[in-house]
Amino acid sequence: MKTPLVEMDGDEMTRIIWQEIKEILLIPYIELNTENYDLGLKKRDETNDRITVDAANATRKYGVAVKCATITPNAQRMEEYNLKEMWKSPNGTIRAILDGTVFRAPIIVDSIKPFVKTWKKPITIARHAYGDIYRNVEYRLDTPGKAELVFTATDGKVSKQTIHDFKGPGVIMGMHNIDDSIKSFARACFNYALDQKQNLWFATKDTISKKYDHTFKDIFQEIFDCEYSEKFKNAGIEYFYTLIDDAVARIIRSEGGMVWACKNYDGDVMSDMVATAFGSLAMMTSVLVSPEGHYEYEAAHGTVTRHYYSYLKGEATSTNPMATLFAWTGALRKRGEMDGLSKLTEFADKLEAASIKTINEGVMLKELALLSDAENKKVVSTVDFLKEIRARLDRIMQ
Ligand code: NAP
Ligand code: MG
Repeated sequence: MKTPLVEMDGDEMTRIIWQEIKEILLIPYIELNTENYDLGLKKRDETNDRITVDAANATRKYGVAVKCATITPNAQRMEEYNLKEMWKSPNGTIRAILDGTVFRAPIIVDSIKPFVKTWKKPITIARHAYGDIYRNVEYRLDTPGKAELVFTATDGKVSKQTIHDFKGPGVIMGMHNIDDSIKSFARACFNYALDQKQNLWFATKDTISKKYDHTFKDIFQEIFDCEYSEKFKNAGIEYFYTLIDDAVARIIRSEGGMVWACKNYDGDVMSDMVATAFGSLAMMTSVLVSPEGHYEYEAAHGTVTRHYYSYLKGEATSTNPMATLFAWTGALRKRGEMDGLSKLTEFADKLEAASIKTINEGVMLKELALLSDAENKKVVSTVDFLKEIRARLDRIMQ
């Protein structure tokens, strides 16, 4: 490897799997060159979360990162880890610095049929990774009063709108987004759709949100008309806008095989739904792509806390490492492409092929075995699963 890969270590069960993947499937085969940032909660607390910002900046410097799942602290974690502060979600911090779009796609294997019978091809969710509810300001009101939306322009001009005259307790929230971020989101989606040769769908609630959501719709259309309509025609793919309610109904009846662009919250929720319907969150990959072309690969799931607590008690665990493994292969392939290292790219392809072959031959973790209709299923532990992949990888490499 010429350029280091930015490696972001994480927490709990995924932190353990991280090491196992490196030891069993990476270090024996490649000269792994990484710049390591430990985003484990302990280190984030020690560095006042500086480490997360450093990791994001390193991603902008080198271009490709691979990230392990990390704990987003809440009140219970404050106590568990004796934290100085309730640090923000590392993913939120990284997304804000890279201003990217998150693409999530399921890993498809033959023996696991989607819950939705019509789905034949993967559905990729493209999630806008900036603003809206994730950058909100909210109030809980205990007394009656008038809530107003006030905007003070830099020239001092003030515009005011009444949100609501409260007669009793209630809640209010302020959200924002930025045209530049929506434009990068749109371009990232159009580029990704072209790259994958798949149709792009986009949906919002523009009938109700006539300014906010409508702005998203207009920006997408304008960029499509000016910059992408020819390219899409040449590639034989389409851009299609519809209302989010309609999109949900159509997606369920579709065969799949499209990129579905979603606003931040819609993407958060829909990616969990799509992942579950395809079989398992543990089979969902995720990549954050910045407008400058920086890539950060990760699994779509969290640190699998419940399994970690069992692991600490010495109980056998069955955490599926596929999504974390595919974060590594995605990052290594991209690093290979960027640096012109065809051997590295080929290694990533072979490692993915070996892991899919392993599952197709019936060797898998418990949660997949419950979904799989393979014959002669063999349920294995995480480490044994990685070793089974290794055996197949060795055969493919020869
Ligand atoms: P989670 O870690 O995704 O796990 C939720 C449940 O999904 C697990 O208990 C398990 O179900 C199943 N699951 C998820 N991944 C699996 C895998 N690889 N193999 C087998 N089963 C798997 O979500 P969570 O428990 O809500 O969150 C745990 C921690 O992760 C939290 O501290 C949260 O902040 C953090 N988190 C981080 C990220 C990120 O870094 N990107 C994303 C989400 C959450 P069973 O218990 O039924 O086996
Ligand atoms: Mg979610």
